[in-house]
Amino acid sequence: MSILNADLHCHSVVSDGTLTPEELAARAAANGVELWALTDHDETGGQQRARAAAHANGMKYLTGTEISVTFASQTVHIVGLGFDAEDPRMLQGLVATRGGRGARAMEMSDELAKVGIVNAYEGALRYVGNPELISRTHFARYLVECGACKDTNEVFRRFLTEGKPGFVPHRWASLRDAVQWISAAGGVAVIAHPARYKFSANEEYALFSEFKAHGGRGVEVITGSHTAAEYVKYGETAREFGLAASRGSDFHSPGESHTDLGRLPYLPGALTPVWELLADRIQ
Ligand code: AMP
Ligand code: MN
Ligand code: MN
Ligand code: MN
Repeated sequence: MSILNADLHCHSVVSDGTLTPEELAARAAANGVELWALTDHDETGGQQRARAAAHANGMKYLTGTEISVTFASQTVHIVGLGFDAEDPRMLQGLVATRGGRGARAMEMSDELAKVGIVNAYEGALRYVGNPELISRTHFARYLVECGACKDTNEVFRRFLTEGKPGFVPHRWASLRDAVQWISAAGGVAVIAHPARYKFSANEEYALFSEFKAHGGRGVEVITGSHTAAEYVKYGETAREFGLAASRGSDFHSPGESHTDLGRLPYLPGALTPVWELLADRIQ
């Protein structure tokens, strides 16, 4: 059934969101979400709390995470849904993916100091809820606080994206590993917000082909980071590659995210919803 208010992508303080799993669950339920997943970056530490809070708020729950992957020299995000959150290989893979964030953050801080923004590491740390998960988002919040930029979008545009003074390239998980960790743990791997990558048509084709070859089964079509035209484009891509479609706000914070939990269009009826592949994994 496509007419379901499923929100299968958002972040808590366990990664780079600003709300707790409990606050997110209450907000999602208040917005009419029926099926929910918390998908913290490279982390499953919030899963038990999220599931309990989903049930307390009358929602069904799917386990979730969003794994950082390096593909064709760019960062791609792979959402995992419905996997066993205790699976040892998955947990090990996520620990390995998180490792290196601390050293990268210190390098980012050194680079920012060269353009006059000092103590950014210490500043970013004050926004971090999980010491293993310091992210560019935490730096962005500190750069707004210290007056370097007016909002986090401006921080990314001027400082934290490729070619800008605070950007430090990082090697994440491989596409193959991420898809296999999720699949072997009984879940479904989903390409997150495909329109956000700066790939050529050939590179994008390679991403979808390789993803599918490794066992990937879904793609986000309706996401807070797609335009209406991109819903159409990636709906067609889903059909071309025989992938199920997912829907998620990618909500991070009330002040920052323009799409609130559950507040986005339903999936187009012609697509297979990813939750149909996960019927026996819904809790
Ligand atoms: P990291 O995993 O540390 O590289 O940080 C990536 C996170 O930064 C993403 O999950 C988003 O939350 C955020 N982000 C990336 N690009 C942008 C952007 N252009 N504007 C705002 N937030 C962004
Ligand atoms: Mn994020
Ligand atoms: Mn993402
Ligand atoms: Mn996300």
